[in-house]
Amino acid sequence: MYIKTEAIVLREVEINEADKLLDLLSKDRGLLTVKARGVRRGSSPLKSACQLLTLSEFTLQEYRGKLSVQEAQSLEQFRPLRDNIELLALGSYFAQATGAVAQEDAPNPALLSLLCNALYALGTLRRPQPLVKAAFELRLACMAGFTPDLSACAVCGSEEPDRFDLSQGTLSCAGCRAGESGIRMPLSPGMLMAMRYIIWCDPKRLFSFTLEDDGLRELSSITEAYLMTQLEHSFYTLDFYKSLLHYGESI
Ligand SMILES: [Zn+2]
Repeated sequence: MYIKTEAIVLREVEINEADKLLDLLSKDRGLLTVKARGVRRGSSPLKSACQLLTLSEFTLQEYRGKLSVQEAQSLEQFRPLRDNIELLALGSYFAQATGAVAQEDAPNPALLSLLCNALYALGTLRRPQPLVKAAFELRLACMAGFTPDLSACAVCGSEEPDRFDLSQGTLSCAGCRAGESGIRMPLSPGMLMAMRYIIWCDPKRLFSFTLEDDGLRELSSITEAYLMTQLEHSFYTLDFYKSLLHYGESI
């Protein structure tokens, strides 16, 4: 049986001299693991379409419950990411985090377009890395079922609270504490406005907000800590991305 689907490569593992196993996020079937035979040979026609972070039109063959790539044609390679190690590392983290949220047999076109739009905003639009990272992380948390309540302080109802509770996903004021609260991170009015924008905006406008550099960096630490807390997951691709940033700062 043959399956045709649009999908992006989230992960690639070399399994012998010539082959790879790919994790795909497909439009029609959610997460799929497929074998790409011969793809590591220089002459393979599948080579460019089966690369990490490439969106392709795949024709897959299903045999005894296993899938293999018959044909693949790349639709978008997000080329600007491939010339910049930081962008490629950040894109790889986006792919790994997407894989942690995606499910098999559960089509999720919104998740696929979140990832593709984030990669496009990073590479082609050159939006600031902490901005794209923060918007991606918070929106991904929402898609995973962890939409925070950003309407008002959960204790007194003030609309301008200045703390964000990472485990509850709620707001509060510095002076308001409700019983046993977890780790609360300080939030400036600009950061709160950006977070509200990210969870409520039209997906097509997700990366269009602005915030000053310091605010963006702090926002990106909050959204990262929130996503990790909610998913109870850490990502080696994120550690690698952060190690590149620290290396860049030290030279
Ligand atoms: Zn309050």
